[in-house]
Amino acid sequence: MSRKTVLVYQRPLKPALHERLTQECEVLDFTDRKDLHNDADFREALKRAHGLIGSSVPMDRNLLAEAENLEVISSISVGVDNYDIDYLTERGIVLCHTPDVLTETTADTAFLLVLATARRGVELANMVRNGEWTSSIAEPHFGVDVQGKHLGIVGMGRIGAAIGRRGRFGFNMTVSYHNRSRHEDFEQELGASWRELDDLLRECDFIVVTVPLSEATREMFGKREFELMGDQAIFINIARGGVVDEPALIEALKNGTIRAAGLDVFTTEPLPGDSPLARMDNVVALPHIGSATHETRYAMAELAVNNLLAALADQKPQAPYNWEQLKR
Ligand code: NAP
Repeated sequence: MSRKTVLVYQRPLKPALHERLTQECEVLDFTDRKDLHNDADFREALKRAHGLIGSSVPMDRNLLAEAENLEVISSISVGVDNYDIDYLTERGIVLCHTPDVLTETTADTAFLLVLATARRGVELANMVRNGEWTSSIAEPHFGVDVQGKHLGIVGMGRIGAAIGRRGRFGFNMTVSYHNRSRHEDFEQELGASWRELDDLLRECDFIVVTVPLSEATREMFGKREFELMGDQAIFINIARGGVVDEPALIEALKNGTIRAAGLDVFTTEPLPGDSPLARMDNVVALPHIGSATHETRYAMAELAVNNLLAALADQKPQAPYNWEQLKR
């Protein structure tokens, strides 16, 4: 039987994982290409690809129309906003992702942002680095406490709950959350309360966003929402840049409508150097590192390879995203 063809894109796989793939498939490596949509070699290779493995590249109908043999896309991410799920399902293509293995690391990143914004960690470390620490620190440079404050989580799923645990059990915080549906397990575990979004925004000191990007969540946070949060609120986004109206966020940070923001994700990534978000003292901006540790990125890639090989062998992968829809 002829071997199936797999295209690896965006990031190279570690040698052990690459080796596993090459034992079972013909592997074509496109990880050195910058613009896959306009890459003639990639588009040509797509025509005979049975599987794709990678992340961070929008895979739209136009691109995939040429991929007539495609059976599976194995995304090395938990978020699936780069894929047109209805289209993939219509075509019988399995979409796999990497939930759970990145949950704790991404929750750590969220808490890194909570602490860094509250205590002004980056701004004050830069003061030391620039030789501007010339006298003992006084009120103009004080931060605010995290312990005992009110933590609001918008999107209380795997990562949201892991952030909630850090807040509740590590920092004695009160936890509220907003989802479309109530999660009684998290309410019991964390003593968390479900709140309407507007109430949560008014009541919480820290608002952490962990919703998937979808048509329902696109620009969920704009001028009105920042005004509801108020001038003491700290806004943390580790979800996707698209859930925020970014110009409205910049205005809210400039005007003091909210106190500070901790951001791991942006509408344009990498964040353009001339974005005000790169320079404001009340912003801690990270280069989309939610899951970026050696251990977690390896675990994600390993799960993605397992998903891919299972789907190509017509078995149920460990983490298929559209399995239920495909089987309907
Ligand atoms: P998850 O377990 O599916 O949790 C997402 C939660 O959001 C669900 O509980 C869902 O609950 C809620 N939700 C969905 N749509 C909503 C809406 N319109 N309004 C309110 N709540 C809504 O996913 P996860 O594993 O925690 O990952 C969450 C997201 O984090 C991913 O999709 C990804 O975009 C992002 N992420 C970012 C990084 C990073 O590097 N910064 C790393 C990992 C993940 P209901 O269905 O009950 O509403």
